[in-house]
Amino acid sequence: MNELRELYQATILDHNKKPRNFCELEDANRTADGHNPLCGDKLTLYLKVDAEDRVVDVGFQGSGCAISTASASLMTEFVKGKKRGEIEEDFIRFQELVTTGAGEAAGVETLGKLAVFSGVREYPMRVKCATLSWHTLRAALENTGATARTE
Ligand code: ZN
Repeated sequence: MNELRELYQATILDHNKKPRNFCELEDANRTADGHNPLCGDKLTLYLKVDAEDRVVDVGFQGSGCAISTASASLMTEFVKGKKRGEIEEDFIRFQELVTTGAGEAAGVETLGKLAVFSGVREYPMRVKCATLSWHTLRAALENTGATARTE
């Protein structure tokens, strides 16, 4: 178990140091801002969504703690190429993973690398850091123009 924890920790630190898809997409057709006032995490998400509601490209910018940055980085890798309906299901599984752990048995396989955030549920203050990028993603897909807030 400790080895697994260390692996998870190393993955989070790596994605915080070198966030993937950390860029403004020039041809984005959806964007949304997210803010977690509890920790001060802020991000802007850029999506390119095709006519079938598939996320064909994604980028983000912003500043925040290691958990929020790593979560956004891993999320962008995870959702690229997926359709909105699939992403909604992933969001529910991810939220279960970082809160109750209820989705763990069934969910971890489908969540892949996102399993690194399973330890977050021991730190309730950090749950919002981990889910900020997902709330922002949902706001971008809904295209309401509102800022996603964790509060
Ligand atoms: Zn944070």
